[in-house]
Amino acid sequence: MPLFSQSMEIILPHYTPLIQTIVAAFVVAFFMGALAHRLRISPIAGYLLAGVLVGPFTPGFVADASLAAELAEIGVILLMFGVGLHFSLRDLLAVRNIAVPGAVLQIAVATALGAGLSYVMGWGLVAGLIFGLALSVASTVVLLRALESRNLIETEKGRIAVGWLIVEDLVMVLALVLLPSIAAASQEGSVDDIWLQLSGTLLKVGGFFALMLLVGRRVIPWALHWVVHTGSRELFRLAILAIALGVAGGAAFIFGVSFALGAFFAGMILGETQLSKRAAEETLPLRDAFAVLFFVSVGMLFDPSVILEQPLPLLATVAIIVVGKSIAAYGIVRAFGHDNKTALIVAASLAQIGEFSFILVALGTSLTILPADARDLILAGAIFSILLHPLVFTAVAGRAGEKKLPGSEKAAQEIQREASRSGHVVLVGYGRVGRLVAAGLRERQFGFVVIEEEADIARAAIADGLTVVRGNAADADVLKEAGVDEARLMLIAIPEGYEAGAIVEQSRNTKTDLYIIARAHSDGEVEHLNRFGADKVIMGEREIARVMLGSLFTPKRTS
Ligand code: AMP
Repeated sequence: MPLFSQSMEIILPHYTPLIQTIVAAFVVAFFMGALAHRLRISPIAGYLLAGVLVGPFTPGFVADASLAAELAEIGVILLMFGVGLHFSLRDLLAVRNIAVPGAVLQIAVATALGAGLSYVMGWGLVAGLIFGLALSVASTVVLLRALESRNLIETEKGRIAVGWLIVEDLVMVLALVLLPSIAAASQEGSVDDIWLQLSGTLLKVGGFFALMLLVGRRVIPWALHWVVHTGSRELFRLAILAIALGVAGGAAFIFGVSFALGAFFAGMILGETQLSKRAAEETLPLRDAFAVLFFVSVGMLFDPSVILEQPLPLLATVAIIVVGKSIAAYGIVRAFGHDNKTALIVAASLAQIGEFSFILVALGTSLTILPADARDLILAGAIFSILLHPLVFTAVAGRAGEKKLPGSEKAAQEIQREASRSGHVVLVGYGRVGRLVAAGLRERQFGFVVIEEEADIARAAIADGLTVVRGNAADADVLKEAGVDEARLMLIAIPEGYEAGAIVEQSRNTKTDLYIIARAHSDGEVEHLNRFGADKVIMGEREIARVMLGSLFTPKRTS
């Protein structure tokens, strides 16, 4: 029946490994990420486990590892681009006295410990070095999340931890660049070869740096400004991606340096421009998506049997990450004359490993200089340390954590005072609308507390002399801190109506008779907010139309 078989051919899915890999990775990662979220652990652990599930070491569907690895490379490019965008030389210089020697010393200690374990395991010197380095560098994602959750980023302790991490990142970038030539030389033999290879690599890196500093630094911002002036959002988004991927690709294909370094540099150049915030926003969704693929592909490499077969080396690996590194960091921070609390927080922040370790592992594996055992131990160590991190952080730094921004003691007292009056107003968001509302409330001498999520904006509100609670207003703790249970009125001045719905719901749960006024931008949002219990919803677009019509007969220039 030729007709039948022909139509079957059309109906049956043809061979589509790339689509299968992407579909499996995203779907399984979503479920594991959601599970991690419910269990209040880092979603990274969920994505890694998703990788294990679709990997070759567990039964069932097996995704294409080489395709996954290639997709992951895009994740690395975008992650490194993001690191570059946020890399601020000024922040680093502010804490350089402690961050630079601290990070270098800590890397040395962790690498030595790792190399020691590697020696016991009977691996080679280069393998030991990579193993140690992989254990020494903490994950930016995990660290920022831990600091964020305790509002520590804007404090001195937070700045030291972040600066320390930037130095670690820079050392890793260097390691990634040099590793291929070290590997090639170590496999081929003599010491002369190593020097030859190294100087060749450094020359190429130097060439790339020179080109970027002399040409890239002028051409890229110029091109981007041109694109901005076209007014096309799509073109801007495309330009950012073209810059990130193009520079990374050029670095790899023309100069033979890593994608990662190229992307880091592209990010750093854009980070200097006024457009960096928008660039970061535009790449964020794609970066998050590909970062998930990156974590999944790393999980695919992991053979879980290492947990049963090598329990002691695994224990030693986790101990180096969680205990060894922390003690070293604590000692170093104390030796530099900082107080106990700062030392504890810096040490606890860094007691984990993550994306850079995985990038090192992936490179070491592809260069065949890292034994499979070492790779599995690093991956297992990462998974365990990420899982343990919230516990470690709470145990070590928990009481040292700060709930509020600097000046927060004052804020707490003021909230008390406002609450003890007839009930204060809670204003959510200090943006375009919130700012105007705050000015009006102040003029009318209302007692009010601002809840603002963004650190910079919260700081601006404090500078304006307001009482501010920093955090997401959908969070019950944040609402409590703003004294919602004592408030009489809530004004939600954020643009996302659906997100505002969650705030309304939480606040209603806390105080049933709170009068809530919210802001919306579509009929759907208005309905949503009403359903969740807002007393009054003001739809921006309707108000604009109303005022426009009202202005028809009283034309007057706005200032
Ligand atoms: P705008 O879009 O200019 O009106 O600004 C809205 C402001 O609200 C921004 O400063 C946001 O950081 C802030 N914001 C948005 N969502 C939340 C939230 N869930 N909790 C607290 N602040 C928020």
